[in-house]
Amino acid sequence: MRVHNFSSGPAMLPFEVLEAAASELSDWRGSGMSVLEVSHRGKDFVACAAEAEALLREVMGIGDNYKVLFLQGGASGQFDAIPFNLTAAGDRVDFLNTGQWSAKAISAAKRQGLEVSVLADQADSKYTDTPAAGSFEVHPDAAYLHYTPNETIGGVEFGYIPESGSVPLVADMSSTILSRPIDVNRYGLIYAGAQKNMGPSGLCVVIVREDLLDKARPNTPSVWNYAAMAAADSMLNTPPTFGVYLLGKILQWVKDAGGLTAMADRNRAKAEALYGFIDASGYYSNPVATDSRSWMNVPFRQAKDELDKTFVAEATAAGLTNLAGHRSVGGMRASIYNAMPLEGVQALIDFMTDFERRNG
Ligand SMILES: *Cc1c(COP(=O)(O)O)cnc(C)c1O
Repeated sequence: MRVHNFSSGPAMLPFEVLEAAASELSDWRGSGMSVLEVSHRGKDFVACAAEAEALLREVMGIGDNYKVLFLQGGASGQFDAIPFNLTAAGDRVDFLNTGQWSAKAISAAKRQGLEVSVLADQADSKYTDTPAAGSFEVHPDAAYLHYTPNETIGGVEFGYIPESGSVPLVADMSSTILSRPIDVNRYGLIYAGAQKNMGPSGLCVVIVREDLLDKARPNTPSVWNYAAMAAADSMLNTPPTFGVYLLGKILQWVKDAGGLTAMADRNRAKAEALYGFIDASGYYSNPVATDSRSWMNVPFRQAKDELDKTFVAEATAAGLTNLAGHRSVGGMRASIYNAMPLEGVQALIDFMTDFERRNG
């Protein structure tokens, strides 16, 4: 009795992963205990965390000069943790502002007394596009350039990696990580809350280049201190064990499906089907510039927006759930992360076709 779940996060997970986790929940690896009940310092869990890290390195192509950290506090925690780790008070930091998640990262940097420069701000387009490549210039003395490759609320995604010269590039990849191959070497730091595309909430993955590990302020909270956490294999305190376990299973699922190239093919096909339908319909619309449309989050409106509640209720009754738009945007939003199959998108398109026929 599974539905097609279009939640923006926590989001749907691959069915095979849920089944596998369920089947071994009460007796994990012959221990007579679940993975939820074992010590994080025991050999079984230490091996499980090492496997998850090794798979992440393999699937994403992460070099040995990067540390992989399994932290808590979500991506939002990193909005504050990054300035603590990478700057001294008064340092200059550069940002690109493409929407609500960028804005939150910018506010956190401002709270910490940094000299914040917003190199590009897409307010003029109401945050429906990305700045053109080469249209902004990074300050050579900036501690880093921060951007949000995919804005989960606005459905705006960069089609390129910004050029930052020798300035470390920092990316909030919460809603796009694992959706397509990326060149990790272009980045100083990548972070992502797991609950969009890599697992349950409660786990935040940080991938940080080693040369950035010696800059933390002395008062950095220890559980967010990258160098301290790297030295302790993310086990300075109890890590989010179930999240790490499930991340490993999801990465195995990604690998078995053909890795990030296969994910990109699937995701491109789903996005093309849904945007293609919306653009051709005349009844539905998506406001985002075509070169900046997200493969993961597709906000859309219908011509009769007084019917939005009806649309969402009827979709839910038809087994298509969590389609209400973000409270700040209205309309509808379909999040179509890795775990959403093409059939789910096709079922949504069929429903939208029928809804338009009855109401358009
Ligand atoms: C969901 C999301 C966040 C917030 O993640 P939390 O884990 O709730 O802190 C931050 N940035 C982006 C791009 C997101 O999609």
